[in-house]
Amino acid sequence: MKKNLSASDIQVLEGLVNIPEDILLTLNNLGLIDTSSVLNIIIRNEYQTLIKDGSCLKKDAVILLGKKYGISKSSIEIIVYKKEMNKKKQCPSCNKEVSKYKYLKNDGLCDSCNLKK
Ligand SMILES: [Zn+2]
Repeated sequence: MKKNLSASDIQVLEGLVNIPEDILLTLNNLGLIDTSSVLNIIIRNEYQTLIKDGSCLKKDAVILLGKKYGISKSSIEIIVYKKEMNKKKQCPSCNKEVSKYKYLKNDGLCDSCNLKK
């Protein structure tokens, strides 16, 4: 994931958090902004905007955002589906419960099946 916020990222953030752009720019220049948290907020917001009117399918929105921000599709999924991260899924190989995070990370396999792969 990119380490610095661009001018357009700052503009989006300004609209989301209601803090003037010049203050955000100063904080950003001083390295006082948690870039990855900010990008998570921006990406989640953009995802919601993309799928809101139904013009963009969820899976297409994920691909689009991945390309735009230069991060993998599974990382985008982790960001936008964060609230669902604690829901349990089942390993397709042994039916053991796996977290959604691992489910996305290891093609659904639990740790032991992933090691045997
Ligand atoms: Zn398993």
